[in-house]
Amino acid sequence: MGMISRRTFCTCCLTATGVFAVSRAAHSQELLNLEGSVACAGRKSITLGNVYSFKASSEAMSLVGKICEAVGLPQNFEVRVAAVSDDIANAAAVIAYYGTPDAKRLVLYNELWVQDYLRSTGDEYWSGVALLAHECGHHLSGHTLDGQGSKPPKELEADSFAGFIVAKLGGTREQALALFEDFPLEATETHPARSDRLQAVAVGWRNAGVPTRSESEWANIRVNYFRKRKDGTKVDEVLSDLGIQANHYASELEDADTNHITCSDDVPVSAVRALALALHDRGIAIQSIYQHADKAFSGINIEFVGWHRFGLSRSVLEQLDRCPPRSDPTYGTYQPRR
Ligand SMILES: [Zn+2]
Repeated sequence: MGMISRRTFCTCCLTATGVFAVSRAAHSQELLNLEGSVACAGRKSITLGNVYSFKASSEAMSLVGKICEAVGLPQNFEVRVAAVSDDIANAAAVIAYYGTPDAKRLVLYNELWVQDYLRSTGDEYWSGVALLAHECGHHLSGHTLDGQGSKPPKELEADSFAGFIVAKLGGTREQALALFEDFPLEATETHPARSDRLQAVAVGWRNAGVPTRSESEWANIRVNYFRKRKDGTKVDEVLSDLGIQANHYASELEDADTNHITCSDDVPVSAVRALALALHDRGIAIQSIYQHADKAFSGINIEFVGWHRFGLSRSVLEQLDRCPPRSDPTYGTYQPRR
C-alpha cells in the first residue's frame, strides 16, 4: 500500500454546471472555476470552488491513450492533474466552459495516487487503471453532457466500462474488482450499492471476451520452476491462476528473487508473454527473457539471473513477440537499462 490507503478512493463524478477555466496562462498550471458544481465523493456530495490544475504525467496520459485505443474511440477529453477534493484522493470527469461553445471535457486526477498506484505492480496498479477507466468511461459514454452529475445507472455503466478495460489491458477479474471492494456497502442517491458495482465490473470484464486460460493449453508445455523461499508463494499463485502444473526444483539461491524466464522456440510466445505479464502483475520484476543455451531444451524455466538490476516494464513485456536470443538488446543480457 502506498501513502494513500485504498479506503480513501472513490470514483466520483462532478455535475458539469458552472465549470469554468478562468486562467489559461502559457505555463502548465490553470485555475479551474468549479464553483456551483457538485462532486460525488463516495458517500457524500461535495461542492467545489476554484481548483488549480496541472499537466498530467506521462503514465496517466499513456494509460488514457491505451484505454481509448482498447475501445477504438477517439479521446474526446483532456487529462489534467487537480486536487478534486480536500481530503479524498480520486478522479473526476468534468466539462469546462459548460454550456458555451468553448466547452471542453476533462478528466482530473490526483497526482499522488497515480504516483503510488500506476507505478506499482499487481492489484494496486490495476486499481489505478480501473479508476481512470471509470472516469474515461463517463466521457466516452456521454454521461457528462447532461450536467446532472452522478446517478446510479451512469455509475454502473462506468464501472462496467472499467471492468472491460482492465480485461482488455490484461488484468484478471480479481484485479478489476480490487478497487471496488472497499466501496460503500449501501446505495445512495448518486451511487449504487457495492454489490451492484461488483456485478457491473464483473459483467464488463466478461464482455471483453478474454479467453480464460485453461490447464489443457499448458498441458504440452514443460514449465520448470526453481523455487525461492523469498517470493515462492507469489509465483505459486501465478502458476495456479494460469493452470500451470510446473515441475518444482529447489533453488540453491534461497534468498534470491525470481527475475528471469528462459524459453525455447517451440513454445508459443503467447504462453511466455502471458506468464511474464502474470508474474509482473503479481509484483515479480522480470529482468530478462531469452532462449536456453542448450538448443535441445524445450519449455519454460522460471528462475534467477544475477546480472540485471531493473525489471522490464509492462509495456515491454506486452510487446514480446518471440523467444528472444540471449544477445537481444531489450530482453537479453546486453541491454542499457532505463
Ligand atoms: Zn463515476
